[in-house]
Amino acid sequence: MQEETRILNSIPVDPLTGAISTPIYQTSTFEQEAPGVHKGFDYARSNNPTRKVLEDLVATLENGKAGFAFASGLAAIDAVIKLLSAGDEVLAVDDIYGGTYRIFTHIYSKFGISVNYVDTTDINNIIDNITPKTKFIWIETPTNPTLKISDIETIAKIAHQNGAYLVVDNTFASPALQTPIDLGADIIIHSATKYLAGHSDVIAGVVIVNTQDLAEKIKFIQNSSGGILGPFDSWLTIRGIETLTLRIQKQSETAQKLAEFLLENEAVDTVFYPGLASHHNHEIAKKQQKLFGGVVSFTLKEDTIVSAEKVVTTTKLFHLAESLGGVKSLICHPAQMTHKSIPEATRLASGVKNSLIRVSVGIEHADDLIEDIKNALEKVKAEVELKN
Ligand SMILES: *Cc1c(COP(=O)(O)O)cnc(C)c1O
Repeated sequence: MQEETRILNSIPVDPLTGAISTPIYQTSTFEQEAPGVHKGFDYARSNNPTRKVLEDLVATLENGKAGFAFASGLAAIDAVIKLLSAGDEVLAVDDIYGGTYRIFTHIYSKFGISVNYVDTTDINNIIDNITPKTKFIWIETPTNPTLKISDIETIAKIAHQNGAYLVVDNTFASPALQTPIDLGADIIIHSATKYLAGHSDVIAGVVIVNTQDLAEKIKFIQNSSGGILGPFDSWLTIRGIETLTLRIQKQSETAQKLAEFLLENEAVDTVFYPGLASHHNHEIAKKQQKLFGGVVSFTLKEDTIVSAEKVVTTTKLFHLAESLGGVKSLICHPAQMTHKSIPEATRLASGVKNSLIRVSVGIEHADDLIEDIKNALEKVKAEVELKN
C-alpha cells in the first residue's frame, strides 16, 4: 500500500457509531462496570479514545511500536529527557532547536544531565566525542535554520555500538519524507505544531518509539508527569495528518523552485536547501529523504539586519511570523526572532548571519510566492544602490 493510502487507511472509523471523522471524546473520566472493570479507559490523563487514534496513527506513520501525544513539542522532548538519570550524557547536534537547548541548559543541567554539542554532519565528531556515559545521540535533520543534514543510518550504528539510543527530532522532514526508525533510530520526536498538524492552528507534540520496553517507559512518564494532548487538539492533529502527504509534496516542489530562483538572484548571497546540488550533504539527503521539505533559508549580499528586515516586512504572501509547516507561507528573521536570545558571536559561528532569512513555503501557487520574494529583494537592491 502506498504512503497516502496507508495514512488514511490507518485512521479507524469510530467503532461505536461508524463516524468517519474521529469523534472528540471530551470527557475526563469513564464509567466502570465494577471497580477496575472498564472498556480500556478509566481516566483521561492515562488514556483518551481521541488521543489514542492520534497516537496509533503517528506510530504507523513512523513505522514505530507505539506513539504518545503531548501538549507541545517541548512537552514531548521533556518526556524523552526523563528517560535519563543524573550522570548521563547526551551528544547533540550543535544547531539544535532553541527550546531544546534551553530545557537542557536551564532545567536538566540542575538534575545532573550534561549535553555535549557537536557538528553531527561530520561522523568523526560523533566518534571522537561519544563516551561510556553517553545515553542519547540527539539529532535534527534537516536542522533549523541552516538545514544541515546528518546521516541517520551511520549515526544509529555508532549509537548502538556504544550502548546509546539515537533520538531524532523529525519535525522538519515529517514522516511523509523521512522515517528514521527504518534507518535504525530508536526514538522519534515531532513538534506536531508544524507539518503534522499543518494549519498553524494547534500546539502539539508526539513521541514514537521502536521497542515495547521504551513504549512502557514513555507511557509511564506520560501518565506520571501528565503533559498530555487534549481531545480537541488531538482531533485537529489527526485532521491535519490526513492531508500531510499532499501538503508536503506541494510544499517541497515549490520550495525547490524558490531555492533555484534565489540562487540566480543578484541580491542573494547563499541559499540553504537540501534539494540543491550545492548543498553540503545533498547526497545524504537524497538517500534518506523522499523530497527535501518546505523550508528554505538564504542570506543577502548586503549582510545587515536592516536589509533582512526590509525583505521580511515587504513580502505580502509570506507572513512575518515564527513557526513553520503550515499551509500559509511564513517568513522569519532568525537574528531578531527565533535566535535573538543566542549571544551574537555564538549565533554567527553557527552560520546564522545577520541577513539570514528563513521561509516556510505554504501551498499557495509557486509563481505567486516567487513574485512576492522577488519584489521584496528588488526593494533591498534599490535601497543599496541609492545608498552607494
Ligand atoms: C517548534 C519545534 C520544537 C518545539 O515544539 P513546540 O510545539 O513549539 O513546543 C521542537 N523541535 C523543532 C525542530 C521545532 O521546530
